Amino acid sequence: MYINILGSAAGLPSKKRHTQAIILDMVDELNEYFLIDVGEAFQHRLLNTSIKPSKINHIFITHLHGDHIYGLPGFLSSRAHQGGEGKPLKIYGPKGLSEWLTTTFQVSETILNYPVEIVEIEDGSFISIKDVTIEVKTLDHNIESFLYVFKENDQKGALNVLKLKEIGIRPGPIYSEIKNSDTFVHDGVIYDTNDFLGPVIKGRKVCIHGDTRPLQSEVYFDLLKDADCVVHEATFLDHEYEKAYSYYHSEIHDVLSIQKDLRVKHYIFTHISNRYEEEFISNFIKTLPSNVSVAHDYFKYEIARKK
Ligand SMILES: [Zn+2]
Ligand SMILES: [Zn+2]
Repeated sequence: MYINILGSAAGLPSKKRHTQAIILDMVDELNEYFLIDVGEAFQHRLLNTSIKPSKINHIFITHLHGDHIYGLPGFLSSRAHQGGEGKPLKIYGPKGLSEWLTTTFQVSETILNYPVEIVEIEDGSFISIKDVTIEVKTLDHNIESFLYVFKENDQKGALNVLKLKEIGIRPGPIYSEIKNSDTFVHDGVIYDTNDFLGPVIKGRKVCIHGDTRPLQSEVYFDLLKDADCVVHEATFLDHEYEKAYSYYHSEIHDVLSIQKDLRVKHYIFTHISNRYEEEFISNFIKTLPSNVSVAHDYFKYEIARKK
C-alpha cells in the first residue's frame, strides 16, 4: 500500500506543483488504485507513472473547489481510450458533483464507453469496497469538504501448522478449510480454530483530508487515532494561524500540536501554497520531526503492514 501524491499545490499550480491529486495504491491488496481528488493536470502527471487508468475504478472527491475537480472530466474522457472500455467506475463526492459532471458531459457531447456511477455522500457515510471500509466525515471549509478514512479489515492470524501437526492433521486443503471456519472436528473431537491461529493481523488506516481548518472534536480524533498515515492540507507553513483560519485552511504546526496525542504513525502534508519558494520548502522540511513529510509532486510513501 502506497500513497502517491501527483498534485501537491494549493489553489493555483506552480511550475513544480500541480493542483491536488492523490493516489492510494492498493494494487498489492485489491489490484486497483483509489484516486482522491482530480486536479487539473492529473492525467498529465499520470503519464509519468506506471499507473494504468483502467485500474482506477474508484474516485473520491473531497470537495467541489476547482483545484480538486477540474481534472476529472478530462481524465474520465481519456480513460475511455486508455484501456478503460467496459470497466465500470464509481465516483464518490459531495452533493452537486453529479449535476456538474452530467452537465459538463452533456454540453461537450462526451459519451463514455464504460459505466460511471456517481454516489453523493454525506457526513457519516460508510463505503465498503472489497476488504476496505471508508468512513466519511465533514471537515471545516468554506464549502462542504470531506475526510475519507480508509481502513482495511482485520485479518485472521496465521495458522499454527506445528500445533495442527501435533494433533495429527497433515498439511493440505484442509488447512484453509480450518482457517475459514470457527471450529473443526478431528478424530471426534471439536476444536476451536482460534486456538490454532496467531495474533490477528490488524488492518491499516489511512486518513485523507480535503481542505479544512484544523478540526478538534472527539468524533474526529477517534477517527484519526493510531492511523498509519494521515494526509492533511498545509496551505500555510509559516505560523500564520490567523490567516489560515480566515481562509478556511490549515497551518502545519497548528495541526501537529492539536493532534499530538493521536499516535499517528506518519503525516504527509500537501496542498502547499505557491507563494513558498521550493528552496524555502526544502529548508523548512529539515525542521520537521522524522514522522512528518511535506509532499512534492510524485512524492511516494509506503504504508507498511502492521507488525
Ligand atoms: Zn484546494
Ligand atoms: Zn477548497
